[in-house]
Amino acid sequence: MIDKNNEADITDFRRRLLVWFEANQRPLPWRATYNPYHVWISEIMGQQTQMDRVVQYFNRWIEQFPNVAAVARASEQSILKAWEGLGYYSRARNIQRAAQQMQEQYGGHIPSDHKALLELPGIGPYTAAAILSIAFNLPFPLKDANVERVFARLADIDRPIKQSAIQKRIGAMAEALLEPELPRFYNQALMELGALICTPKKPACELCPVHMHCQALKKDTVEFRPLPNDKQKKIEIIMACTILHIDGLFFVQQRMADDIWGGLWEFPGGRLEEGEQPLEAARRELAEETGYQAGDLEFFKTVVHHYTRYRVTLHGFLAAMKTKPEKPILSAAQDYAWVSLTGLSDYPYPAGHRMLVAALQETAFPEIR
Ligand code: SF4
Repeated sequence: MIDKNNEADITDFRRRLLVWFEANQRPLPWRATYNPYHVWISEIMGQQTQMDRVVQYFNRWIEQFPNVAAVARASEQSILKAWEGLGYYSRARNIQRAAQQMQEQYGGHIPSDHKALLELPGIGPYTAAAILSIAFNLPFPLKDANVERVFARLADIDRPIKQSAIQKRIGAMAEALLEPELPRFYNQALMELGALICTPKKPACELCPVHMHCQALKKDTVEFRPLPNDKQKKIEIIMACTILHIDGLFFVQQRMADDIWGGLWEFPGGRLEEGEQPLEAARRELAEETGYQAGDLEFFKTVVHHYTRYRVTLHGFLAAMKTKPEKPILSAAQDYAWVSLTGLSDYPYPAGHRMLVAALQETAFPEIR
């Protein structure tokens, strides 16, 4: 392991890492210019999302919203639609709120000040440090899951990395090893090493530019580092919804603004109550949320979506209305619409409902089209 009191050791570590990064970095779109707006969007999108998806969404986003001003003046609906599929929609709403604040306070620029960044919605200590170091080349260390894993192996840390004492230790390592002149490249190099070489499973130690500094490699403990945290079991959530339709139009409603998926659209539905069957729940939820009584419900499809802490199973039932009903009561929604099968694509949905929409559009419904 690098001795943090040994300057030569530290310099050797930084140099090897930087040389490797120069030759091996992926050509990610925000690396072309290091435009602070691009770096900010890439960092928010990159939270809990795989890189190939981030690149895909990032390119589309920048085309639609080329700068802070464009995000600030966009409709919430277009922001949510552009984000659809990335999940954790509060991130998208916070981007827009932060953009509006930047537009008002900083003339549409991203501030290069730590305190000012932390006052913006959705920007916490990690994102602030990422923007400052990557966009502005300021000496702020970064510590994400990739960096934690690399450090746990370099120092052969034999305790779970989420323990607070270990977090402090890794934080101190990150501070001590940071290259103060080139934080932009050093921070990315460390994260890139974790993403490409020092991967969670089967790290490519034979290609690692800093293998001579690695204690886990020396002690043959690489496959046991980092030590896993106590596994949290996923919480199971079972839901049911009704897909109402009449004359080729489908009923969707928009969730309340302060809900978990506020502003997104869905088919009326909710969680099963104790002892309830999916079909009963779909019928009950429809009546509670809209005031409508469905006739015969026909099973359509069950979809499953995994979130970090939850596994959601959603059962969808079709219900054909004979006559177009009155205005719904909307006890759990702020708006509603009757939409054609193709028009359903214009609305943003939580993952499960989006899967049902896709399945509906793939299904031949001679009686609906
Ligand atoms: S030698 Fe292997 S385990 Fe050690 S830092 Fe490099 S890739 Fe990771």
